Amino acid sequence: MAKTILILPGDGIGPEIVAEARKVLEVVNQRFDLNLTLTEGLVGGAAIDATGVPLPDATLDAARQADAILLGAVGGPKWDQLDTAIRPEKGLLGLRSNLELFANLRPAILYPQLAEASSLKPEIVAGLDILIVRELTGGIYFGKPRGIRTLENGEREGYNTYVYRESEIERIGRVAFEAARKRNGKVCSIDKANVLEVTVLWREVMDRLAKDYPDVQLSHMYVDNAAMQLVRAPKQFDVLVTGNMFGDILSDEAAMLTGSIGMLPSASLDRNNKGMYEPCHGSAPDIAGQGVANPLATILSVAMMLRYSVGAEEAASTIEAAVGKVLDQGLRTRDIASTGATVVSTREMGEAVLAAL
Ligand code: NAD
Repeated sequence: MAKTILILPGDGIGPEIVAEARKVLEVVNQRFDLNLTLTEGLVGGAAIDATGVPLPDATLDAARQADAILLGAVGGPKWDQLDTAIRPEKGLLGLRSNLELFANLRPAILYPQLAEASSLKPEIVAGLDILIVRELTGGIYFGKPRGIRTLENGEREGYNTYVYRESEIERIGRVAFEAARKRNGKVCSIDKANVLEVTVLWREVMDRLAKDYPDVQLSHMYVDNAAMQLVRAPKQFDVLVTGNMFGDILSDEAAMLTGSIGMLPSASLDRNNKGMYEPCHGSAPDIAGQGVANPLATILSVAMMLRYSVGAEEAASTIEAAVGKVLDQGLRTRDIASTGATVVSTREMGEAVLAAL
């Protein structure tokens, strides 16, 4: 059956990296007869410039109708002074919450060819393969009340609310347990149950869920320790499951273990495996327009999209193999280049993947 893919390039390096990923998608679409229709829309700063809002109705409608969404990145200094309610990031948060994309899957895999790109010793990271499952539509990023208020004495106070319902914890927990079943059978749940009641409940729900998955081993860890363990001995982990804010931070830390945030894809899924796929990194305004951004995270996001939302496993693994081949050839964008590597531009890297396909 024909499927529709909505492409949202966004801001900064977004359009540059998405252009390369789109070419890859077009090639596999034909090669594997996937019958995908590709459409494009505006989100983030690009949408603010064109329409005044970060998530125009037309984009949200198109996203609702699409079977999957490929997103570049949003944000940049140009829009940093705007009120938080209409900042580019609101476009992203709006898509995640409106489409109920509650499960964010962020693999951190260290390609053997890039072991030297990690800031950690190769023996600590070589062969790393962990999956961070982050709750994406709840927690402190969405909790109400929130705001900045003025107290009676005239001093201002900022406040947010950290809240999770049992049902929200349970559905993300199930995603993690199911994922662990297909991997090495271990889930580590990250919380701060020594301080925050909301995560006392989180821990209780995870323990309860574990009874449904006797084949999966559940452990718990405080988030501060997890941050430490990720740099001390990251290979102890298989699947990590955590809330929105802790997951935001830990997944960037895990990304760095692999040497470059420019290599890591992500998927955000709803209950029916409809998903939004995007690189883990942001819009990198510091290098936007220079043609040096690494497009591989976005290209690998296309592979994840084909696997989870299109059900085209062969096309997905063909793309992943092509990326491996390009790394074998010694081609590197600047962010993953070690001495002696052949440094290529964003477009050259995209073309090398196409050739390897
Ligand atoms: P960032 O991920 O954009 O950049 C961090 C560093 O990594 C920068 O030095 C950047 O040059 C580098 N980098 C990132 N992606 C790269 C790539 N593909 N190739 C090579 N180098 C790459 O994070 P930041 O600087 O904290 O944020 C910049 C902007 O992006 C902000 O406006 C922020 O709000 C936004 N942001 C958006 C998303 C998203 O759209 N999902 C996520 C995070 C940050």
